[in-house]
Amino acid sequence: MWDETSLQLLANATNLVNQGFSDLPAYDTSIDVDALQPVLLEVARRLQENDPYHHPLYAGQMLKPPHVVARIAYALAMTLNPNNHALEGGLASSRMEQEAVADIAAMVGWPTYLGHLTGGGTMANLEALWVASQITGRTLKIVASKQAHYTHQRLSGVLGLPFKAIATDKHLRMDIDALKHVLEQGDVGTVVVTLGTTATGSVDPLADVLELQQNYDFRVHVDAAYGGYAGLVSNLSPEVRRAYDCLAEADSIAIDPHKQGLQPYGCGCILFKDPSVGQLYKHDSPYTYFSSNELHLGEISLECSRPGAAAVALWATQRLLPLVPGGQFAQQLEQSHTAALELSRRLKADRRFLLPFEPDLDIVVWAIQPTRVSRSSEQARQLLQHAAQQHLHLALVDMPLSLFEQHLAGVVVDQNHITCIRSCLFKPEHADWIDAIWQRIDQAYEAARKP
Ligand SMILES: *Cc1c(COP(=O)(O)O)cnc(C)c1O
Repeated sequence: MWDETSLQLLANATNLVNQGFSDLPAYDTSIDVDALQPVLLEVARRLQENDPYHHPLYAGQMLKPPHVVARIAYALAMTLNPNNHALEGGLASSRMEQEAVADIAAMVGWPTYLGHLTGGGTMANLEALWVASQITGRTLKIVASKQAHYTHQRLSGVLGLPFKAIATDKHLRMDIDALKHVLEQGDVGTVVVTLGTTATGSVDPLADVLELQQNYDFRVHVDAAYGGYAGLVSNLSPEVRRAYDCLAEADSIAIDPHKQGLQPYGCGCILFKDPSVGQLYKHDSPYTYFSSNELHLGEISLECSRPGAAAVALWATQRLLPLVPGGQFAQQLEQSHTAALELSRRLKADRRFLLPFEPDLDIVVWAIQPTRVSRSSEQARQLLQHAAQQHLHLALVDMPLSLFEQHLAGVVVDQNHITCIRSCLFKPEHADWIDAIWQRIDQAYEAARKP
């Protein structure tokens, strides 16, 4: 939230920006306060309808506000509104984008690469699949796990590419045997490996997928829109660590700074290991103004106009919180992960709840121990509402019943899916709030149990 301190920091920095333009003749910049005030107060009232995404008791969807340094830097740049399509539209912010993207590339272990920011993960993935199809041809399949982001199938449709979903294992990670079976048919061009699925944070076995390249010819695109930063964390399980340790062997990687990178929405990132894919973007637009020999980001991007302010905010955040193991940013992610492990430990030890598996990252999915599957689903929905009354915000997700196979002895199976509770422990503060969260889960459970 804006407070006096952050507004003062913004004012100080704004004065310095203005000094850079102080030799320009003055013009009228006055504001009609009487006209603006009622509109802005109406906006404020409307915004009260949101859930409190910023508070540690919000543990529902993948949401958290940007870091204060990102908010201030964004606001600062936005008043000039640079466009990172071409250098004339955003000279400083284009250079800051290149520097910020270089730091993300360094984090994944790529000293050379081609990359830029995008509007988000979907655009980053679209670009990766488009480049892949340009290289492998348009008849070969894109494959991704059944738990991959739903947009991969849709994007394949947009690009006119055949798509196939690969079965998942009991951890909802891509099943390697199922992948191998599909690869044997000889018509796969690209395997999309998800490091951190959106529903459960499951991390596909990237190392095993890469090993299959010895026998089969395919590209690997890693969708790490959500989990892209987790490689910095020191408390991953050995299997998950193994996946992150070979991230640099992928052909392309999508990472969303607007998911776990503390940025406002409108900030994704796509990276390609081979810089020569830049040739694929060649275009000759009459109204684009690529005037200098220096690279314009619009020459290597599918999108045209993009917010320079997003690049400035990211640059400032990474300047304050460098993307290094053991750094403050890594420690904060570690705290989220610790919170998820602690919540899952409590759920596992409690006979009222079912935990299908330990979380790979910082999303915990769990069910209410059923007597009948439909009743468990109904109780999950009620628990959610009771928890919200106590300001604890959780989310729901439908899971295949097979996930709970070992737990279903004596349970009446009257539907083939089960509604689970999904909690995204996205904020470092969650680690200190686990007792408060648990207390509310306990009370909400008791309230939901009453018929
Ligand atoms: C969020 C997400 C996406 C989509 O990214 P947007 O930024 O919402 O467009 C893609 N893949 C995964 C794994 C995600 O979690």
